[in-house]
Amino acid sequence: MSKQVVLRRVQGYKDSMVTSDAWLPPFKEAVDKHVNWKQTGFIHIDSNGFGLACEACRSNKPASIQITLSSNDRFSDPTVLYLGTECCRKGEMYHHFYHFQQHMYQKVKKLVDSVRRKRKESTTEAIFEHLLSKGYVYKLTKNVKKAFNDVVMIYNLQGQRARVDDLSSSEDE
Ligand SMILES: [Zn+2]
Repeated sequence: MSKQVVLRRVQGYKDSMVTSDAWLPPFKEAVDKHVNWKQTGFIHIDSNGFGLACEACRSNKPASIQITLSSNDRFSDPTVLYLGTECCRKGEMYHHFYHFQQHMYQKVKKLVDSVRRKRKESTTEAIFEHLLSKGYVYKLTKNVKKAFNDVVMIYNLQGQRARVDDLSSSEDE
């Protein structure tokens, strides 16, 4: 049930607040396709204001950040894009929510693998207890709440702030 609550909110934020009508379809396709988003450079705009335009949207705003989108398989090539600051910030949040389950899976898998290796724990219960007692579950939960809070703080201008609290009050991690 907790998982469904979180996933519904991820979906809702992704489709309403953390998206843009100005985004071009190729940008969204590239973001949806690649699970990894990395900032790989900055672009200096010269004094004449000459530079690249943001490749994410129709606004013709100057691009200032280079990002590289990549996948974990060997079959798809990375995509390099030049973005304006606002499209970069919002795009990264959209990307995080679009790939939320995959990102969470990767993080948890890494933790579980390391407990298995280092502590030779083998049962699911022992591994989960370890992650819980060492605060890893708390940390992951906190990151999810922070991502929701960031969206609400930045993009929800209609004042639905109270909605974030009902997740914070849940003790069921
Ligand atoms: Zn843009």
